[in-house]
Amino acid sequence: MKALRLDRLLANLGYGSRREVEGLARAGRVVRDGAALRDASARIPLDPDLPGRMTVMGEPLDPLPGLCLMLHKPLGVTCSHKEAGPLVYSLLPERWRRRDPALSTVGRLDKETSGLLLLTDDGALLHRIIAPKAKVAKRYRVTLARPLQGDEAAILSSGELMLEGEDRPLLPVEMETEDATHCVVTLHEGRYHQVRRMFSAMGNHVDALHRDRVGGLTLPEDLAAGAYRVLGPDEIAAIF
Ligand code: URA
Repeated sequence: MKALRLDRLLANLGYGSRREVEGLARAGRVVRDGAALRDASARIPLDPDLPGRMTVMGEPLDPLPGLCLMLHKPLGVTCSHKEAGPLVYSLLPERWRRRDPALSTVGRLDKETSGLLLLTDDGALLHRIIAPKAKVAKRYRVTLARPLQGDEAAILSSGELMLEGEDRPLLPVEMETEDATHCVVTLHEGRYHQVRRMFSAMGNHVDALHRDRVGGLTLPEDLAAGAYRVLGPDEIAAIF
């Protein structure tokens, strides 16, 4: 099992500089299995159950590296530093924004798209999810500005729809109609603004967009907009 020096572990989790966390340890504020860990150079085995056995300043230790979260992204927050507005990371505990390795979003949702967004600090997991060959399905609930014409599901499933400025048609997309201006689409790839551009290529306009499923993982109804939760190994496996 991997082990890390106590000062390195806590500094990487964002608790402070190595000097600061050394001070916390010396002051008896870091406790494992009921005993203060005062030596910041002690090597700590990274047992998966460590956060349940260790406290820092009286609070359970933050999740260990290898973290994957689901966030219910609200409207108006952005996944990219390049866009104006609050970042999705501002919805996480402040300390988590100083973690090393850092948490990053698994792909992106537009600022005006809500729904299921995954974040992880595990680069290999991130690439497994977004790799084109993984074809992890993403499901979106779409509200349209104008009534559906009736031929959209056939166009989307044909695998022939070309988006403006691209030279390769989209992979087939599944579409279920709910009513004249609402439908659910499932994509097996993720091109830039894909859902909005798909409907604009068919002469419509997306008024609202919400992602409720990634692979086999569904956004729980009781996870409010802006809330997040750490995924367990079974939930991560359910993505694929
Ligand atoms: N397609 C879009 O147009 N926007 C998103 O946020 C996701 C998929």
